[in-house]
Amino acid sequence: MQSIYSDVIGVDKNVIGYLRKKIDDIVDQAIHEEFVAINQLEGKNILFRNVIRELVNRILEADLNYTPFTIKQLEKDVSRNFAIDSTVNVKLYGIIDRVDEKANVLRIVDYKTGRVDKRKPADIAELFAEPKLKEQFQAMYYAYLTSASIPGQSVKSGLMALRSMGEGMIMLNNDEAFTAEQFAEFEAQLRKLILEILSPEFAFTQTKDESRCVYCAYREICER
Ligand code: SF4
Repeated sequence: MQSIYSDVIGVDKNVIGYLRKKIDDIVDQAIHEEFVAINQLEGKNILFRNVIRELVNRILEADLNYTPFTIKQLEKDVSRNFAIDSTVNVKLYGIIDRVDEKANVLRIVDYKTGRVDKRKPADIAELFAEPKLKEQFQAMYYAYLTSASIPGQSVKSGLMALRSMGEGMIMLNNDEAFTAEQFAEFEAQLRKLILEILSPEFAFTQTKDESRCVYCAYREICER
């Protein structure tokens, strides 16, 4: 998707129509650059290539329904220093898939290839307490980082779950821009969480839910 929109700023129905004709070439080019020479693609990888083409097509279909909008950022590194207390600073960091803008509201778009829990969190505290809402947590974290870097800008956030594109984007906060109070609450919860992580009083323990270990980057040192 980064390649698809790399030379685009304003997106309307004509632009989407033009980009749809380029899907096959752009996907092949990306595979060629990132994976294997396209003329050496064989077996199930040809099927995967076809799946990727279809997924890109579905994203553009969803985007068509959102036109007109403007692409503001693609795959952008965002970071900020975050004062935990008077002595401790941490660096918050993220790579945001896409930020677009419509009617003066920035929209964070986070593409998701895995399963996404579509349940709405009861409140911001639940984003920090329920691991099944980690995708929503991430989407609000990106909105928070973006808002902190552009103060005063309205920001909303959503997940493009590729397995259920037909149902549209999963928008947080009922598709409304987050308020300053919501970001303040998120920041307070984030500060509390980081303090807990840094505190020697709270030991790290292995999770009881082993399904979380499947894709964990720390499996080897954890010896689970
Ligand atoms: S493998 Fe990862 S998720 Fe599982 S217990 Fe270890 S650190 Fe936690």
